Amino acid sequence: MSDVISPRIAIIGAGVIGLSIGWRLAQRGAAVTIFERDAAGQGASHAAAGMLAACAEVEPGEERLFALNRQSQALWPAFAAELEAASGMAVDLRREGTLVVALNADERARLQHHLEFQHQLGLTLDVANFYWWGHPLQDLYGIYEKFAPRVVHTHCKNIHYPDDKKNVRREMGWEYAKYNCPIYDGDIDFKRLTGILRQANYSGDLCVEDESLSKFPETERAEVIKKEIAVLKKLA
Ligand SMILES: Cc1cc2nc3c(=O)[nH]c(=O)nc-3n(C[C@H](O)[C@H](O)[C@H](O)COP(=O)(O)OP(=O)(O)OC[C@H]3O[C@@H](n4cnc5c(N)ncnc54)[C@H](O)[C@@H]3O)c2cc1C
Repeated sequence: MSDVISPRIAIIGAGVIGLSIGWRLAQRGAAVTIFERDAAGQGASHAAAGMLAACAEVEPGEERLFALNRQSQALWPAFAAELEAASGMAVDLRREGTLVVALNADERARLQHHLEFQHQLGLTLDVANFYWWGHPLQDLYGIYEKFAPRVVHTHCKNIHYPDDKKNVRREMGWEYAKYNCPIYDGDIDFKRLTGILRQANYSGDLCVEDESLSKFPETERAEVIKKEIAVLKKLA
C-alpha cells in the first residue's frame, strides 16, 4: 500500500487564478475543491481585456516585477496549448505583440518617455519567435545580429519544420504546436546564435523555454530539460 497521501486542497474563487492553480494541483494528484460564490470565470477574469503586455505596460520602479512578468508571459503559449489540448476549446492566444498608439502630442511625449525607459531595460531575445512569425530560417541570423547589441535576456526554444517549409515565408504561427521541439532537435543553429551574441558582448542568461514539453510523458520531461541545459552550457 502506498504511504503517499494525496493532499486535499480547498481553493476559494473560480477565476483564472483559482482554476489554473486547481488544475495544476489536480494534475499532480491533489484532491481539489474550488468554492465559488457566484459563477466560475465571471469576476475580474471576465472583465479582463486579455492583454499579455508585460513590455508595453511596465512602468519605472517595476524593473524586478517586469522580469517576473516577462517570464510569466513566456510561459503562456505552452500553458495555452496544454489547456486547448485538455479542454478541446480554443484559447485564441495571439502573439503579434502589442501596438501602443499615441493620438495627440501629450500622449506622444509620454510614449517617447516610455520608449526611452524600455530601451534602458533592454530586449529579451525570444529565439524561435522570428521563425514562428514566418521568417525563413536563413534570415534569422541577420535578425539576431541586428538585435544582439541590445539583448539582455534570451529565451531558447526551437522548431523543426519540414524541409520544404524551412526557407520559405510561412503564415504566422504555422503548425507551431506540431513542430515545436527541444532545442537540440530543431532547425535553429544555437551554436551560430551564441556566436552572434558573444560577438555583441552578451553576458545574460541562456534560458530554456521549451514549449514542446507537453508532448513528452511527464516522467521524461526533466530529462529533456537536462539535455537542453547541457547543450546550452556547452555553447555558453
Ligand atoms: C477591467 C479589467 C481589465 C483587465 N484587463 C487585463 C488584461 O488585459 N490583461 C491582464 O493580464 N489582466 C487584466 N486584468 C486583470 C485580470 O483580470 C486579473 O488579474 C485576473 O482575472 C485575476 O484573476 P483571479 O482569479 O484572481 O480573480 P477573479 O477572476 O476575480 O476571480 C475571483 C473569484 O473569486 C470569487 N470569490 C471571491 N470571494 C469569494 C468568497 N468569499 N467565496 C467564494 N468565491 C469568492 C469571485 O466571485 C470570483 O469569481 C483586468 C482586470 C479588470 C478588472
